[in-house]
Amino acid sequence: MENISRKYGVDIYLKREDLAGPAAASGSKIRLAEFLVGEALQQGVTHILTVGAYLSNSATQVASAAIQAGITPIVFLYDTLAEGYPSKWRGNMLLNKIMGFEVHCFPRSPDESQEKIWAEKLYPAVEARKAELEALGHTVLAAPAGATHPASFPAHLLTYKEIIDQSAILGFVPNYIYHTTGTGGVLPAFAAAKLLTGGSSSIRSIAVSSYRPDNYISHDIIVERVKSIYGLIGQSAPDTNLIMSELDIDQRFIGEDYAVPSTEGTQAIKELASLDAVLLGPVYTAKGFAGLLTHIREGRIGPGSKVVFLHTGDTNNLFEDPRITGKLVD
Ligand SMILES: *Cc1c(COP(=O)(O)O)cnc(C)c1O
Repeated sequence: MENISRKYGVDIYLKREDLAGPAAASGSKIRLAEFLVGEALQQGVTHILTVGAYLSNSATQVASAAIQAGITPIVFLYDTLAEGYPSKWRGNMLLNKIMGFEVHCFPRSPDESQEKIWAEKLYPAVEARKAELEALGHTVLAAPAGATHPASFPAHLLTYKEIIDQSAILGFVPNYIYHTTGTGGVLPAFAAAKLLTGGSSSIRSIAVSSYRPDNYISHDIIVERVKSIYGLIGQSAPDTNLIMSELDIDQRFIGEDYAVPSTEGTQAIKELASLDAVLLGPVYTAKGFAGLLTHIREGRIGPGSKVVFLHTGDTNNLFEDPRITGKLVD
């Protein structure tokens, strides 16, 4: 991206996972979905059930991949705005509606956390629907939030390989690979790929949800997933400390909460759109890119460095509720 690179004195490249799948329904969940659907086809699955926030990129991408494979998707979503069922079809919900699959929406009360609503409403609803379908003779695969099914953990090894190969074609080795991290579908594969190949590019993750031991996502869970990737490809895993030393997760850019726009994120969307005509999304990639720009300002990325930012998608969320998009236009 020539213009923003010139402004900051750092060479910033994009890896366009936002363009990796079927047009409007694309992003980093498409590769996870590829492996998930592969597993489903092997098992003779007829229905894939998955969960997310109502603005979920993952649910839409998993559903689109299932449809292409001739498998019926069913998604279970909760309202991020804590104000009941969304009254309008917009963003990913509009795409879900057009694709016409079964969607169940759960309102969220202001005191309910994301984890609580998953545990108490979404997953029980998935279990109940699964039992119903199985009683009718169907074969069901339930995919966790973010499409983080064990079968999909190795998917982003390929993304890492493409980043390194495509950078080599352009004549450079990235000093840093930046990405936005949430449910942990990308990071374990990136850490594993770096360790497996002895890569020199540092992986830096900007979190949109809090990584802590009592949360649904934590450093420990990432370490376990790295080990499971080694297991899947038949290699013995490195020890925990070595894996931990590869994790660099900056949690300063979450803002008020998941799916609540941050000032820096909104600023980053406008800055990149006006300089290089690249669109980020407010829930994930804006916060990730804001983290990258802050690291440049703080000197955590030196002048002239080569940086690859993984554009994981999220642009559909630009067409969301203003409480999610932030103040993008006056
Ligand atoms: C899911 C998602 C992320 C976070 O990736 P995880 O695999 O959940 O860690 C980042 N950006 C976008 C656009 C996403 O949809």
